[in-house]
Amino acid sequence: MSAEHNSVHSTQSESQHTEHQSIETQCIHAGLAPDPSTGAILTPIYQSTTFVQPRVGEDTGFTYSRSGNPTVAALERQLGALEGAEAACFGTGMAAITALLLATCRAGDLVVVSSVVYGGTTRVLRDVLARFGLRFRADPPQAIDPTGARLVLVETPANPTLVLTDIAEVAARCKAAGALLAVDNTFLTAALQQPLALGADFSVYSTTKYVEGHNSTVGGAVVGRDLEALRFVQNATGCGQKPWEAWLTLRGLKTLPLRMVRHSESALELALFLQAHPRVAAVYHPLLREPELARRQQRHWGGMVAFEVEGDAVAVMNALQLCSLAENLGAVETLVTHPATMTHACVPPAQRLAAGISDGLIRLSVGLENVDDLRTDLERGLACAS
Ligand code: PLP
Repeated sequence: MSAEHNSVHSTQSESQHTEHQSIETQCIHAGLAPDPSTGAILTPIYQSTTFVQPRVGEDTGFTYSRSGNPTVAALERQLGALEGAEAACFGTGMAAITALLLATCRAGDLVVVSSVVYGGTTRVLRDVLARFGLRFRADPPQAIDPTGARLVLVETPANPTLVLTDIAEVAARCKAAGALLAVDNTFLTAALQQPLALGADFSVYSTTKYVEGHNSTVGGAVVGRDLEALRFVQNATGCGQKPWEAWLTLRGLKTLPLRMVRHSESALELALFLQAHPRVAAVYHPLLREPELARRQQRHWGGMVAFEVEGDAVAVMNALQLCSLAENLGAVETLVTHPATMTHACVPPAQRLAAGISDGLIRLSVGLENVDDLRTDLERGLACAS
């Protein structure tokens, strides 16, 4: 691995950061200050619905927690600062994606999504928003066509196949076609990839995953340069984040860059182990799939690996003891997922196979356990493949 990818400290997009600090420092300090009344170094949890107004027509900046909450606002300032922009936080990643669609599109508009996005993203378009007249099409990631689209949404690396999309190239095409570009950056976070600096209009997150990172909350965020319409939807529909979840997410953020490096190092080590294993038919990982593009737009490889087993994938997953079988990803515990029956069960089988999600595909979200212990567990599982 090249030295530049051993560090999440980047020169590429630092100029975008308002405070010109490294991402490690920003994740601890950006947008935050000790509480002025007590000196508390951590932002307090403002578990209050109601904020008293000093006089009629005046307020403190907060009135009612659906419209704004100080703990959530601190998280929004910090997530925005990481990409030199603004952020709006939501109750889940799907709430963030839905709010973005509601804020940018109207009936009759066309939304183009990459065919390899998270299953829930296509589900909300196909089974909910289509009923309100929003049109949508799924294009292969290498052939995204923004012509006539209002919004293009890509995910890179994609869940679960880790296919990459060239953000700068798609952004240039979207600009030429007059379409907005949103990038779901859940798998890498701002610590490892900066979509706005590469030309996207919005970064979208399920903060449920790496951003909070400890399997403790569900949450979502949209980062962009002008979020006025999104904030309107956030308040009008009441889908914003809550103070306790925001506080836990702020705490998780403090170690995000460190965690992302360790997740990435362990995932690469396990990907190489799997690649050499006789019971493994294929391994999917950004460095193994598209090294040139991964080096160009990412600062590290990320913590996700997917692989196809030569034999019985279900037997392999059932035999694992340290890796937990679960739907989530991006936390300190290593999680193993069977996308065909779990995360992507809502995707029609033909579409799922076209996106490379076979019944034998296993997704691994590599946690922060000792990598030798994880290798031993995978060895145990793979011994049950036949
Ligand atoms: N985006 C990606 C890449 C995801 O993996 C997920 C969930 O797995 C989501 C969005 C949706 O996030 P949430 O589960 O927080 O609603």
